[in-house]
Amino acid sequence: MNILRPFLSLDRSQHMKYKRILLKLSGEALQGSSKSTNIDPKVLEQYCEEIKAIRDLGVEIAIVIGGGNIFRGGQAEALGIDRVQGDYMGMLATVINAMALQSSLERHGLYTRLMAGIKMEQVCEPFIRRRAIRHLEKGRIVIFGAGIGNPYFTTDSTASLRAVEVQADVVLKGTRVDGVYTQDPEKYPDAVRYATLSFQEAYEKGLNIMDMTAFTLCKENKLPIIVFDMNKKGNLLKVVQGEPAGTLIS
Ligand code: UDP
Repeated sequence: MNILRPFLSLDRSQHMKYKRILLKLSGEALQGSSKSTNIDPKVLEQYCEEIKAIRDLGVEIAIVIGGGNIFRGGQAEALGIDRVQGDYMGMLATVINAMALQSSLERHGLYTRLMAGIKMEQVCEPFIRRRAIRHLEKGRIVIFGAGIGNPYFTTDSTASLRAVEVQADVVLKGTRVDGVYTQDPEKYPDAVRYATLSFQEAYEKGLNIMDMTAFTLCKENKLPIIVFDMNKKGNLLKVVQGEPAGTLIS
């Protein structure tokens, strides 16, 4: 590891609006159009290229990835599986995605650490807040797997909580839609996209940005959220530079 790397990184990140970000990726998006596997290699590749572009500019990156392409706790009961057991299965699913992402990022020459909310010492470090911050300062991409380690939570809540804990400047929620709309744009073609929203407006309008726990955590800690289209090339860089792309909730 080049010890000058973090210092060079700091310098380059001066042109970025956000220096430390928490990127939330959904597991479902990772499946892409693949019917035969849970992980589409093309999506994985594209995500890594986007992430590398901002890392090369010195942005400190923490990532939370969901598990919806493999298992969600909400599916458990219909399968005759206890709900809490299902939630743990969902958490393990996020670790599978996190490991795939870690491996792919490393193939792109990036330095990474995987930290998990459940002890899994052969494959992940345990989540220790100070250590996570140190990794970020050293320019390592930190992926948080296994959610917060508790059932009845989501990876959105994990994203908000970890973002607050590691003092990220913003939560970037990468989706397949380019922001928050007045109505579901996939169902209503005349739905209008918001460029910015206050937390209060989003709450009063009942807009579905993140689940309430995740949303409230961001609101109470004045942590802005940007919802943007992660599948559009160059969008992540735009967002980090503060250019308009997606919806900013602050
Ligand atoms: N999960 C949990 N606690 C956490 C994070 C996740 O119980 O702290 C479980 C929950 O069952 C959830 C599943 O993991 O359904 C997968 O995460 P999520 O649905 O948030 O993934 P995404 O929809 O973003 O792919």
